[in-house]
Amino acid sequence: MADLTRRDFISISSLAATGMLGGLAMRTGEVFAGQGVPNSPPEYQLPALSYSYEALEPYIDKTTMMTHYEKHHSAYTKGLNTAVRAIADARDKGDYSNIQQLSRMLAFHLGGHLNHSIFWHIMAPKSNGGGGEPQGNLADAIKNEFGDFTRFKAHFSAAAKSVEGNGWCALVWHPAALRLMILTVMNHQDLIVLGSQPLLIIDVWEHAYYLKYRNRRDEYIEAWWNVVNWGNVGVRFSMAL
Ligand code: MN
Repeated sequence: MADLTRRDFISISSLAATGMLGGLAMRTGEVFAGQGVPNSPPEYQLPALSYSYEALEPYIDKTTMMTHYEKHHSAYTKGLNTAVRAIADARDKGDYSNIQQLSRMLAFHLGGHLNHSIFWHIMAPKSNGGGGEPQGNLADAIKNEFGDFTRFKAHFSAAAKSVEGNGWCALVWHPAALRLMILTVMNHQDLIVLGSQPLLIIDVWEHAYYLKYRNRRDEYIEAWWNVVNWGNVGVRFSMAL
């Protein structure tokens, strides 16, 4: 198992270094997009999209994609940089009077930035690998935990639909719990378990679907399965192991 994991990692690293990983332009540190390399870069930035705004039509419409990426994600990235600077400033001054607010601001905006960075990468146009079912180790692990893919999909869809207000639903691998789990997330960061490695996530904030689907979140979730990039999710699983 350890050998397999190490070999997978090396293979993934070299693929990433040469930019060959599923057509995603990335450095090794960007395999988990947006999580970056420690100490670089000092400013967080929007990750590049590997497809056009209209590429996920008709499942996710162009206007939603554009607004979501350029306005919503961008705001979290800016908020994250602001939070990092404010916390550094508080440390410099030894003034922790706002540390409760600043800690929450960091978690909210970092969560928003990372979640969206992952979200863009775990989707792909149907013409470029979107939809279908997982393969390989991930397919086996899903079968082992949930019984089969249909049962997993029903559980995930129900959990995503059940999120109260703004949030996310995630398939995670937990390296200490040693299992796949489906977790729901309030806002970008609440209700999660520390150490959970996100493999597949869906944004169920209204901004992710309201223009096209209005209040019909279940229709959005059903459509979204058609653009899930299982190749990318599989790589995340290999790296999480
Ligand atoms: Mn969003």
